[in-house]
Amino acid sequence: MNPLLAISDLSVTFATDRGHVQALDGVSLSLNAGETLAVVGESGSGKSVTALSILGLLGDSGRVSDGSIEFGGEDLTKVSDQRLREIRGNQIAFIFQEPMSSLNPVLTIGTQVAEPIWLHHKKPWSEAFEQAGELLQRVAIPDAVKRLEDYPHQFSGGMRQRAMIAMALACQPKLIIADEPTTALDVTVQAQILSLLKNLTKEANSSLILITHDLGVVARYADNVAVMYGGRVVETASARELYKNPQHPYTEGLMASIPKLDGDPGSRLYTIEGQPPDLSNLPSGCSFHPRCPYAQDKCTMTKPTLSEVAPNHLRACFGYER
Ligand code: SF4
Repeated sequence: MNPLLAISDLSVTFATDRGHVQALDGVSLSLNAGETLAVVGESGSGKSVTALSILGLLGDSGRVSDGSIEFGGEDLTKVSDQRLREIRGNQIAFIFQEPMSSLNPVLTIGTQVAEPIWLHHKKPWSEAFEQAGELLQRVAIPDAVKRLEDYPHQFSGGMRQRAMIAMALACQPKLIIADEPTTALDVTVQAQILSLLKNLTKEANSSLILITHDLGVVARYADNVAVMYGGRVVETASARELYKNPQHPYTEGLMASIPKLDGDPGSRLYTIEGQPPDLSNLPSGCSFHPRCPYAQDKCTMTKPTLSEVAPNHLRACFGYER
């Protein structure tokens, strides 16, 4: 079976005041229909740039310098802007971190949910609006039909994110990309939104890319995981395998940073020492070496590439003894 999405050797650069910055360096990922892939890493690891590249939303300063993004048989790095616009919202939908900045404050929620149905599916406005009411019901907005007339500021943070999910589902996309969709919400609402997103994408047989810095989220909601660092994928495996058997020191560090219910009361939380790398001045060799407790001389000189450590489990590391 061909994957729905296959990113191969993708490199992306941005023109900045400080010269060209390589935000992605040879990223390869794939995703089958109906699967959830979590892309995990700290800020600046390249996870959001990967997502924006899929949609061709790199802005004027960003460009794909190498590689391909195959989606449903088309290379999205080569299609026209017009074709990308047809795909965006229709076949691939995006849910942003902060819904208030993606919802239009002067349009009602109903208008914003109905618009993609009217635009992409060419349905009469009254039918699209009725469907918007059904979608708000599906995302569990109380009094959904009445709330179609509300403006975004009349919704709570959790309700706005539910409305964004309704908008994403409106055209029954094959792929939904959610970029830190619950970061701005409190913990209880986070769990509700993520469960809703997972259940609705499963019902619709859509695939989901969940971008997050939180490995706790990954355990519950993802089938597969790609861990990113310094613009590269450093480990990829099924979520179950990654938790049981992390094979990269960075993944180990992220795991150790998750607070544990049975941890010693009063003990300090583990943190990975140092800072994420500056993409305009990446360390030589393995870019994790300044923070890696297992770094050897070789790590400072040569870049490790992804290789298989177990079936369907890859890591970019020369190996180490714990
Ligand atoms: Fe650490 Fe070396 Fe592995 Fe990089 S290659 S993660 S520095 S042991």
